Amino acid sequence: MMILPGNTLGMLGGGQLGRMFTIAARNMGYEVMVLDPDTSSPAGELASQHICAEYTDQAALDTLSQHCAAITTEFENIPASILEQLTGHCPVRPGARAVTITQDRIHEKTFLQDKGFPTAPFAVIRSEADLSTGLQALTSPTILKVSRFGYDGKGQVAVTSEADLQAAWQSLDGNECVLEQRMPLDVEISVVLARSTTGETRPFPVAENSHVNGILDVSIVPARVDTALCDKAIKMAIDIAEALDYVGVMAVEFFVSKGELLVNEIAPRPHNSGHYTLDATVTSQFEQQVRAVCGLPLGDTRLLSPVVMVNMLGDLWHGGQPPQWDKLLSHDNVKLHLYGKHQARVGRKMGHFNVLASDVAAALQLAEDIRQSLQAP
Ligand code: ATP
Ligand code: MG
Repeated sequence: MMILPGNTLGMLGGGQLGRMFTIAARNMGYEVMVLDPDTSSPAGELASQHICAEYTDQAALDTLSQHCAAITTEFENIPASILEQLTGHCPVRPGARAVTITQDRIHEKTFLQDKGFPTAPFAVIRSEADLSTGLQALTSPTILKVSRFGYDGKGQVAVTSEADLQAAWQSLDGNECVLEQRMPLDVEISVVLARSTTGETRPFPVAENSHVNGILDVSIVPARVDTALCDKAIKMAIDIAEALDYVGVMAVEFFVSKGELLVNEIAPRPHNSGHYTLDATVTSQFEQQVRAVCGLPLGDTRLLSPVVMVNMLGDLWHGGQPPQWDKLLSHDNVKLHLYGKHQARVGRKMGHFNVLASDVAAALQLAEDIRQSLQAP
């Protein structure tokens, strides 16, 4: 059954991904109810209604259940029990199972391994004894990653020796972790795709991603990667979506290591590396999320122009002052997206811009020039 404009959609999480979903949904004539404990969340400020409460607040969940025709999330750390409870009232897309698997690195990596998808070699760390067995099973160097609640490279520690590993595990409070072999990377790519209620899948073009300090910095589309490899990545991402019986928008991050694809991680939501779709594809990942969640046919994902997306972190704000936007806005082929965050902090994602140009090289050059000019205090 299609959920048509005029209905109210629920969004669990009020960050920038929720905000861009809210914009797309409201643009299409839906009302959006956002649940987020923050009084001034990026999505809450644009929602039809912001329920300012914890994700476990029963009264808040009751309000959502009463008003929403469907519920989705922008944030993988919603407890699965909450999603299950809401499922009793209206469709929750993606469903609890897909979120449960992808919100926990141990579940996620085990799922990938069981289904035969290639990953970097890893070991599960649940106890002190797992540390040395884990390290022995892998080739140094390795990275210890906390199993839950990590993002933007947080909750990750480089490890080369057993002494390192002890200290690293203690610094992560002895929480459950995955110890992962550090792979030599040719390049990183990602596939954002949607899967509909009817099982139709629509991938967006593959993005080539570069990270700085574990945080996505730039996405380049089309990726400067062999077409056959891109096709293989798309096929793998679709197979993963099917194995999860996924409904909604999701992303798969890949390492390309010595010419081979390895799945890094799955995000059960739109993804930072898909922000280029806001300006460069027929349908954006957020409109696609609305379509998938509402049981509508999916939109065309065709690329309209080569594009480079650049993330803007709080580091660009000096003494609380924003960068000089005129230096960016003076270019007629550059699109600015700000998330309405009131406080700039180092490493905090404040916005991004998309550069559209006749080819990727030209877009990259302009993106770098603009970044330089924004960095000047
Ligand atoms: P996000 O959720 O923002 O993608 P995250 O905190 O979940 O980030 P990962 O995707 O696990 O982190 O890692 C962030 C980046 O660190 C990767 O994109 C990659 O550049 C580097 N990295 C992580 N694991 C490995 C590895 N095993 N080998 C080589 N590089 C790695
Ligand atoms: Mg990642």
